[in-house]
Amino acid sequence: MFWNEELETIKASTLKNLQLKRLRETIGRVYFNVPFYRDRFQAINIKPEDINSVEAISRLPFTTREDILNNYPTGLLAVPRDEMVRVHTSSGTTGKPKAIFFTKSDIDRAADLIARCLVMTGMRKNDVLQNMMTYGLFTGALVMHYGAEKVGVLIVPAGPGNTERQIMLMKDFHTTALHITPSYALYLADYIKTKGIDPKRDLFIKRAYLGAEPYSEETRKKIEEMLAIDVYNSYGLSEMNGPGVAFECEMKRGMHLWEDNFIAEIIDPDTEEVLPDGTKGELVLTTLQREGMPLIRYRTRDITLIIPEQCACGRTHRRIDRIFGRSDDMFIVKGVNIFPQQIENVLMATKGVAQNYQIVLESLDNLTVRVEIARDLFDGNVTHLVNMQNKIVEALKKELLVKPKVELLEPGTLPVSEGKSKRVIDNRTL
Ligand code: AMP
Ligand code: ZN
Repeated sequence: MFWNEELETIKASTLKNLQLKRLRETIGRVYFNVPFYRDRFQAINIKPEDINSVEAISRLPFTTREDILNNYPTGLLAVPRDEMVRVHTSSGTTGKPKAIFFTKSDIDRAADLIARCLVMTGMRKNDVLQNMMTYGLFTGALVMHYGAEKVGVLIVPAGPGNTERQIMLMKDFHTTALHITPSYALYLADYIKTKGIDPKRDLFIKRAYLGAEPYSEETRKKIEEMLAIDVYNSYGLSEMNGPGVAFECEMKRGMHLWEDNFIAEIIDPDTEEVLPDGTKGELVLTTLQREGMPLIRYRTRDITLIIPEQCACGRTHRRIDRIFGRSDDMFIVKGVNIFPQQIENVLMATKGVAQNYQIVLESLDNLTVRVEIARDLFDGNVTHLVNMQNKIVEALKKELLVKPKVELLEPGTLPVSEGKSKRVIDNRTL
């Protein structure tokens, strides 16, 4: 079933025309209303009328996270501040956050995209969505909330944490779907297991939407098995509304990126050259319908690829692959490039590994992985622990080509974050 069949299955050529029309409108809007963009375009002698094909977008300069920060809070608005009805901020690491403003119709469009996403995974009016993302300045919970309300599902706005209460709500309100971070989902699944709750017998959950941070295919499988549900990948970022930018359909093979609302490009993060479909690189997004704060060629820093093939579900919007990592997440040990995702893949595929882990960087040559393992391995028999440790070291070495130090921990030792998890602890002093 579709939320908007006509738009979701739009013919490629019609979509292209629609994109061009909306791109030109957007360029005009920022050129005449946002001094930052006008200056940028004038500096390279580009006028709105020069953009006469979707491909011509590659002539325009990029917008970076620094550009948003430098224009904090209202420097990138394309309509008067009075037209704005909401502001969200995005998790900056230090100092001021990025502020993203929405007009009433921006909120409505964001909700509409979420409605497409939910319906495409089988959600219907009689479903119950427990929204376990953080409500507040973060887009994750509220944008999903408004979209779910459009579909007409019952929303349980639980927010994260207090797992005992979450389970009570799931039982009492017959929750059928969860919106949750992968790290909290792993914790929750383990908690449910240790409390002796049988998800099939005692709960009603059919599906979960996992996003806001990178996770591996192995993690998806683990959560699906532990909770006996379907897990769908949900991608978004505050700069582009939050969730609802790209979402998996029932095929669970890549996320449809709503191309009537965004133009997606993949670039080489170093040379900034546009790469063909199927090639891994940094995702760059341009808003096509944003009124309040349009962004042109925004560098997301997220590494993925555009899947070239058509999806069997009938939707024509191209899919992006799982986010492989953020270009700024990568670290170098002994001269080798490593993404945290590679470590997660190995850990989650290793039998006996529990839910939580941490990567600690002490120097340019040392990598320590601290990992929680199954309780029953701490049975007093040291051989069991040594074998497990060797197994993990070898598996990681094979994947990373660097031999890490591995510390085994009892479940519950590492902190569980309610929002986005912090997996990499960087203690290097460079
Ligand atoms: P925020 O703007 O604070 O919501 O953070 C957005 C960022 O979270 C994105 O740029 C991604 O790096 C990350 N993110 C969101 N959804 C996913 C996902 N499904 N898989 C991997 N990373 C994600
Ligand atoms: Zn599909």
